[in-house]
Amino acid sequence: MSIFSKAIKNLCHRVRLLTLSTLLCGTFANGQQPLPMPAPELQKLQQYQWRHGAADCQEDKADPIEIFRYDANTYILRQNKCLHYEAPFIYLLLGTEKALLLDTGATASASRFPLFATVTRILEEASAANTAKPLLVLHSHGHSDHIAADQQFQDKAHTQVVAGNMKAIQQHFGYGIDGLHWPEDSAQLDLGDRAITLYPLPGHSDDAIALFDERTGWLLTGDSLYPGRLYVRDWQAYKHSIARLLKQTRSLPVTAILGTHIEMSKTAGVDYPMGSTYQPEEAPLPMNYQVLDTLHQLLQTAPDPRRLVSEQFIVQPLD
Ligand SMILES: [Zn+2]
Repeated sequence: MSIFSKAIKNLCHRVRLLTLSTLLCGTFANGQQPLPMPAPELQKLQQYQWRHGAADCQEDKADPIEIFRYDANTYILRQNKCLHYEAPFIYLLLGTEKALLLDTGATASASRFPLFATVTRILEEASAANTAKPLLVLHSHGHSDHIAADQQFQDKAHTQVVAGNMKAIQQHFGYGIDGLHWPEDSAQLDLGDRAITLYPLPGHSDDAIALFDERTGWLLTGDSLYPGRLYVRDWQAYKHSIARLLKQTRSLPVTAILGTHIEMSKTAGVDYPMGSTYQPEEAPLPMNYQVLDTLHQLLQTAPDPRRLVSEQFIVQPLD
């Protein structure tokens, strides 16, 4: 180690919280890709205790949708567990030109689950002119607990809903034309000063995708990777998808992996029973990027479908 890199290392120990030192530390001290220190917002998200259902849902008075404001342009919504045990997470990302909503939850009814009204209110409040930006609705995949409220967004002004199926996604992003191949190639989306990259991720379902948000450094992995039971429909496709995602995102400044459910408890390797409507000791939603490598390594040990248990997730093949 040179004197210069020693000096840098000492500096790193002293001023770890500064962004500049974070970059230097990552580059010089580790000799690897820079590992950004969590932004204060991400630390808050890591420590955030989501509402997690109720021991008696008859007595539950909580709102149907919980809103976590990450920053002025980034929101995570969670459906109340007492309304639907899946309690999916929904992501709302705002650019200067338009907004992106990833998923629409597990309940169709606007009176029981007012997602459109909630999203519209957030968009209006986030806009200086109090007018909502055009909205694009995409899906992490087309399973019913992620598309149920699509109808609330149909035929609304300045709102485009890309249906939750592979054909619609491929058409919207131009797969099959201009040499863009599914699932090997990533695709781009610009929300206005906010670039999003789409990675096809078949395995949990054939239409599953991951999104990388340049602004936050989030890698949104849907049901393919989250703190819970990762149900795999197509084992080989899933293995290829995870290996490919790892390769394609390795050089990106990913700050967190965020999925669409929490089913693990704070105790390593222990999940809640399926259908739980009360999860008092939930694992945090954000996962470190390292978990993607852990998943990849575990999958490499299993040529054929089998249950794989790790501290942060459980891979569960479907036959
Ligand atoms: Zn799901």
